[in-house]
Amino acid sequence: MDDGIDWSGIAARFGTPTYVYDGDWLVRNFLALRAALHPDLEIFFSLKANPNRGVYDVLRSAGARAEVSSLAELRLVLDAGTAPEDIVFLGPGKSPEEIAACVHAGIYALVCESFDELAATDRAAGSAGLRIRVLLRINPATAVAGPRLTMGGKPRQFGIDEAAVFDGKARLAGLQHVDVAGVQVYLGTRVLDASVIVRNTAYILDLAERVAGEIGIPLDAVDIGGGLGVPYFDGERELDLADLAADINPLLADFSTAHPQTRLMLESGRYLTAGCGTYLMRVRYTKRSMGENFAVADGGTHHHMAAVGIGSFVKRNFPIVVLSRVAGPVAPHELWNIAGPLCTPNDMVAKAVTLPRLTPGDLVGVLSSGAYGPSASPVFFLSHGYPAEVLVLNGRTYPVRTRDTVEDILGRQSTHPDLARAAGTAARVTTARS
Ligand SMILES: *Cc1c(COP(=O)(O)O)cnc(C)c1O
Repeated sequence: MDDGIDWSGIAARFGTPTYVYDGDWLVRNFLALRAALHPDLEIFFSLKANPNRGVYDVLRSAGARAEVSSLAELRLVLDAGTAPEDIVFLGPGKSPEEIAACVHAGIYALVCESFDELAATDRAAGSAGLRIRVLLRINPATAVAGPRLTMGGKPRQFGIDEAAVFDGKARLAGLQHVDVAGVQVYLGTRVLDASVIVRNTAYILDLAERVAGEIGIPLDAVDIGGGLGVPYFDGERELDLADLAADINPLLADFSTAHPQTRLMLESGRYLTAGCGTYLMRVRYTKRSMGENFAVADGGTHHHMAAVGIGSFVKRNFPIVVLSRVAGPVAPHELWNIAGPLCTPNDMVAKAVTLPRLTPGDLVGVLSSGAYGPSASPVFFLSHGYPAEVLVLNGRTYPVRTRDTVEDILGRQSTHPDLARAAGTAARVTTARS
């Protein structure tokens, strides 16, 4: 974490809970990845990981391209001034509106995930009188390695099975308005072992060549997915960029030499943003229950579902620090459970973390929270809504999203004056019958 951030000032100005994004970290981290990887490998930011416009503006300025998966994400990157040739659209269930928007915007490519979707894309391009480039997302026949979320060798809603792609020549021949010109494979997320990424990449580059040769498509682009991980928990080690570069760059160089016209793409969400984010909460109350310390904070899992450790057998804690104290400093020596305001025992942001004694008013930060934060959390649970988001860059604090208000939340609901009356009638009918 880069300090020099005025946590108390931010809390006073914007309230809590608030997501704070460190823009200097975003730039530094992106440029380090950019410098490590072969220059022909273009880095696409998966907006799914953090759809905040401020975060995207910073990453785009640093050189990131855009991988989007919804109409709103597409609009965001276009509004931000992204060149259409730097946008790809991906996702297993694209709507007719989304496909049409991609066609009209002239994005670089749509990543198609089924033959049905290919046909729908062909029709959409045809009725617009335009063409669109398509990359085939391939579901590999075998699991390549062991990332946490393995995407190969299993029945999946994502992509087209490798075998079906090899048998797909006839089906592609019927397409009139799309240019099938590349492949995409995404093999998993949270990969911390550089050798796994290298093995996956070798497999994907080879598969791309075999597919192109077999079904006779050009390779305008090969998207090698990504899934670069970040450490969250005790015992996890950072992905070694030097190791990754040493082994992946020669593969990319060889491929580039053999296919000088082919764009090489990497997708990354978590790696580009996780480290920039701190979920800033204020302790409201403290108490003891059956011998344990509890701090009840104003933030919780409705904004930070990732803290719950979905999918982990043992629930583990995100890194948590005290960022400002009401009382003086006390050496860390106590175990604390940090709960949020939700009425469920699952609303625990941290269990048994070692911290100084907490007091109401203390500010606590959940670090490494810049990816899959509020947008991947049940923000409407208990009708709390989305938290505020701010971005700090070069010593300045930029508010990049306002907190949802009660009006924002209730204003979405429709009220019908006759509904209560109709319910009264229904109740009388039911009573009369019984
Ligand atoms: C989610 C997703 C990403 C981003 O994954 P990270 O692990 O956050 O980098 C990239 N590509 C595809 C196809 C995805 O579904």
